Amino acid sequence: MKYQPEASHFINGAYLDDTSGKPIEVIYPGSGKVIATLHSATHTIVEEALRGGDAAKVIWREATSAERSRVLSAASRILRERAAELAELETQNTGKPIQETIVADAGAAADLLEYFGSVAASITGDYIPLANGDFAYTVPEPVGLCVGIGAWNYPLQIACAKAAPALACGNTVIFKPSEITPLTALKLAEVLHQAGLPPGVFNVVQGYGEVGATLIADPRVAKVSLTGSVATGKRVYAAAAEGMKRVTMELGGKSPLIVFDDADLETAVSGAILGNFYSSGQVCSNGTRVFVQKGIKTAFTERLLQRLSLAKIGDPMDPETNFGPLISERQLQIVRSYIEKGIGEGANLVHGGIQLNRAGYYLYPTVFTEVDDRMTIAREEIFGPVMSVLDFDTEEEVIGRANATEFGLAAGVFTANLARAHRVAKAFESGTCYINTYNVSPPETPFGGSKLSGVGRENSKAAIQHYTEMKTVLVSVNELSAPY
Ligand code: NDP
Repeated sequence: MKYQPEASHFINGAYLDDTSGKPIEVIYPGSGKVIATLHSATHTIVEEALRGGDAAKVIWREATSAERSRVLSAASRILRERAAELAELETQNTGKPIQETIVADAGAAADLLEYFGSVAASITGDYIPLANGDFAYTVPEPVGLCVGIGAWNYPLQIACAKAAPALACGNTVIFKPSEITPLTALKLAEVLHQAGLPPGVFNVVQGYGEVGATLIADPRVAKVSLTGSVATGKRVYAAAAEGMKRVTMELGGKSPLIVFDDADLETAVSGAILGNFYSSGQVCSNGTRVFVQKGIKTAFTERLLQRLSLAKIGDPMDPETNFGPLISERQLQIVRSYIEKGIGEGANLVHGGIQLNRAGYYLYPTVFTEVDDRMTIAREEIFGPVMSVLDFDTEEEVIGRANATEFGLAAGVFTANLARAHRVAKAFESGTCYINTYNVSPPETPFGGSKLSGVGRENSKAAIQHYTEMKTVLVSVNELSAPY
């Protein structure tokens, strides 16, 4: 099979397999056909990865920042050279249109490696002057062996969001992709080693949730970074607490996107489309509660429906396609059950809501209007192409409603009024806010959630503090006296 990897795992600088592990069938969501079969990590494989990651700690923490930077920059270049091949593999694995995976997956992954390659040299401590000439200095030391666990929506990008800062700071990594999307993390391991990363510094093991749980419980692991649902996040956070391990949690959301009467209509509609239907709606930060001020509501909905009729839905390998299938049959059924709840609870279905009549997990982009804050579709994360349009009268009212959620990942506002834009951004209870744009996440900017949506930040210099442990060294240049 064209997409079958050399082996299931990548440990100590080489592909490795143990075919006695539970089979993992990889399916192309565009057809429902199996494209590769891998094996979940057995106890032997997990132990091999832990031993390798632990042993490599010494060599990588002693590497200079220039050496780390060189490897990350070289890996970024190789990823760009192999972008077309990696985008194809990601499309086969996730069903996301090839026109998306070339920029948002392969391209964004290379950006992350390049950015953290450049940041590596700036990871330094402080000099702190004290009384009488005494002083202290701080050393940002690597935390050690880090476990990264990924979701299935951005497999390569998530692997890089965890690997790049961890490696820049001198840590070693074991990455476990979602078992639904195991392929591109293996390619990342290949690329990093091609770029000169020493064996054992970045390892990939495949498996179901229990493999992740075994890794987290191991005393050799110092830190866990998870991208996944709130429910998994709670379990992983609790397990990490047993060993007082450091955590980064990138979890789910139900983000608000507010459109005021004075917003540029085309820009606001573009924001709502990008924030609900990119990657068939399977994006954690999506603004799925679209609050539209009453004066612009009719115009907004009409224009939205016109623009949706232009979506090219179909085979994600076709470069013309801009809306592909969902990741799996299971996800399709979850999303369909939310659509049924929306209809049952009285929301007005104005677009989509039905499957395409073809093999694969295709669902039309779906829009509900007349949505009430209490409806299930306005409260729970659906993780699919379902937009809820709600209306409002005043700024004060909409801020209260936007924040009335247990999530706090992202929030957006569309308005021409500069003062109001910043007032609303300040009032949002979320980790990332957008003004007249939505869902961009460049590596230079911190990304992460407040409330139930997460702990810590990925991307940017903010990620450095989550992958280093600050050591303080106090020095006296004076005679030391004691009471006796
Ligand atoms: P899940 O929470 O189901 O799984 C996430 C990962 O955790 C998978 O690799 C899973 O393995 C693993 N896992 C499950 N149980 C355990 C456990 N007990 N211990 C250790 N690991 C475990 O999320 P999905 O993959 O379904 O992804 C969708 C979710 O991810 C959505 O809620 C979305 O919002 C969120 N997300 C958040 C992002 C962010 O940056 N904030 C970005 C992208 C997605 P397995 O698959 O084998 O169960």
